[in-house]
This record gives sequence, structure tokens and C-alpha cells, in this order.
Amino acid sequence: MGGRRVSAGELVVEGLRAGVPGREILRGVDLVVRAGEVHAVMGPNGSGKSTLAHVLLGRPGYEVTGGTVTLDGVDLLALPTWQRARVGLFLTLQHPTEVPGVSTLDALLAGSAPLAGSVEATDRAAEEARAAHVAGLLSTEAARIGLDASLLDRALNVDLSGGERKRNETVQLATARPRFAVLDEIDSGLDVDALAAVAHRVREGVGEWGLGVLAITHFRRLLDVLVPDVVHVFVDGRVVATGGAELAMSVDRAGYQAFA
Ligand code: ADP
Ligand code: MG
Repeated sequence: MGGRRVSAGELVVEGLRAGVPGREILRGVDLVVRAGEVHAVMGPNGSGKSTLAHVLLGRPGYEVTGGTVTLDGVDLLALPTWQRARVGLFLTLQHPTEVPGVSTLDALLAGSAPLAGSVEATDRAAEEARAAHVAGLLSTEAARIGLDASLLDRALNVDLSGGERKRNETVQLATARPRFAVLDEIDSGLDVDALAAVAHRVREGVGEWGLGVLAITHFRRLLDVLVPDVVHVFVDGRVVATGGAELAMSVDRAGYQAFA
């Protein structure tokens, strides 16, 4: 398993402790995800899975009290969120945010734009070519997972159904082609067909460009299609067991209590 390794690299989380003021939620998380690997993090409600996703991307309001997070040795915790994304980390949100006035294309263009003041930023022809390229990729990706292309022109996530939002997140992921993707319950709100389409697209990214995946979920169903190389059981802010895909079966049979 692991697909063709297109890019090298690893995302390393060591002894990560974090929480909100007065409350520790992550209590020493250790994980290593290499390029071309799919890791699943399975845990019950309230175990801190979304907190892990948010802390990896640097969401304001959470404080890190210990440990490190590096991507190819780069200290991610020292960087603002947008720079973590530039280094190659991507998050699909459990609850995608509505962004009135900003289309999916606008968001992707802003996320990959040349930095202000650079030579590229002042080259209009190059900028138009880049916009056309990204728009083309976006509609190809939408077609690949059956997202109505007309939704791409609308404001990001505004008036989209839960399933459409998750597919839209996946389309953004496939267009942006990050090195590592954290998927926070990308399966929630999806019907079986949409779930299969989303999971297949993520799996294909692993082979196509060596995407590394940290897929957070509490159900096995996503993993039937995504086929993780490694499964971590996450309880009470820590990884309490790590194994192969068969570990997801144990969770299904025995529940999380068995691991607590
Ligand atoms: P999961 O995604 O596994 O369901 P979360 O990471 O969302 O869990 O939450 C873990 C625990 O931390 C929950 O008890 C939740 O209420 C608490 N928590 C998460 N974020 C915050 C926050 N910003 N402020 C206060 N409590 C929070
Ligand atoms: Mg959550």
C-alpha cells in the first residue's frame, strides 16, 4: 500500500499538548505521516479530533502547551496558518464555513497567489494564465466527483447542502494538490455514493501526487473505500492504539470503550 511516491516528505507530530485556556484537550499526541500514506484517526465524540485538526493548522483560540509539529523539518507551530498552507498542509473542515462574496475559485486563487511585491505578482498576463489554469482544474475536479459546476460560481458554502459542502472541500483539495491533507470527518453528511466519490478522489491523490492523508472519522465506512495504511485509535486527547486497517474492524466490533 502507499501508492507511487511522487514527493518525499513527512508530517511529524510529537508529544503535542494543546487546549483552550484552563483546559487541556490534546494530551501528548504522537503521529508520523509520510508522503503517499493514508492514516486514519478514529475516536469518539469529544475526544479532541477536531482540536487536533485545528491546532495543526493554527486556529486562533487554542494554545499549544507542549510538543512539536514539523513538515519536512519545518516548525509549523511557529508559522501563521497561511504559511502552514503554503508549506503544504490542507484542512477540510468538519463544518465548512460560509464565506459570502467569495467563490471557490476566488478562494483557491488567493490561496495560491504569488506573494505581494514579488515579480510574478506584477505580471498581469501570467496572473490571467494562472487564473484560467486553476479554473480549468476546478471544473475538471468538480466533474470527477459529481459536484454541479454551477455551485463553483456561488459564494463559498453559502446555501450549499452538507453533502455539497463536503464535495466542495474535496474539489478544493484536489485542485490545490497539497502535500498533506487533514480531513476532519469528511464523511459526515454524505450519502453512500457521495462518500465513495470523495474517498476515491482522495485515494487517487495519494497515487497521483504522493498526497499524505490524516483522515479523522468515527465511522469505519469511510475507511472501506479510503483503505488506510495505518489506523490510530484516539481517545481522550491521545493515540491509544495504532495498527493496520484491521484495527478499524476492532473499533466497529468492540467500540471505543475497549481502548479507553
Ligand atoms: P471531537 O472532534 O473529537 O468530537 P473536539 O476536538 O471538537 O472533539 O472537542 C474536544 C473537547 O474539547 C470537547 O469537550 C469540546 O467541548 C472541547 N472544546 C473544543 N474546542 C473548544 C473551544 N474552542 N472552547 C472550549 N472547549 C472546546
Ligand atoms: Mg470533531
